[in-house]
Amino acid sequence: MSARECKACGLLLTLAGVPTRGRHANVEVEFAALPVLQCPEHGIRRYPSRDFGYEFVQAVWGVLQPAARRPLPFMKPRCCRDGTPLVSEPSARWFEGTLSLKGLSPFQARVQAPSLRCPTCGVDQLASSQALNSDVADALLSALQAASVVP
Ligand SMILES: [Zn+2]
Ligand SMILES: [Zn+2]
Repeated sequence: MSARECKACGLLLTLAGVPTRGRHANVEVEFAALPVLQCPEHGIRRYPSRDFGYEFVQAVWGVLQPAARRPLPFMKPRCCRDGTPLVSEPSARWFEGTLSLKGLSPFQARVQAPSLRCPTCGVDQLASSQALNSDVADALLSALQAASVVP
């Protein structure tokens, strides 16, 4: 990672882990130590790498597993294991995992999202939906904004 300077004071930004959380619709995200580049002088925070925004969202989807399959947007979700249609109401569940992003130490993520239990095999799985894609991205954005982290 190339060194970056604070635009306000010229000091080198240093890597720090900041606690933050965010939410959008029925998605909530929580980080005990989100990696950011921070000015040691007055706390200006930037993304820790050039492609962080994109890689961050991709890595969080890796935590939201297993996920129900949805062959077509208008179809009911189906169990990822046995294809049983999942027709019950989703309930909120916390998914947890470690995010490993290029050039950064792994860090923990907690994501609350709608989940469905398969009546056949009993596996809890993400209630995949079209809306969820933007809800997850917006929840992550709100966590970055809550910690005043900018690209
Ligand atoms: Zn500064
Ligand atoms: Zn199943």
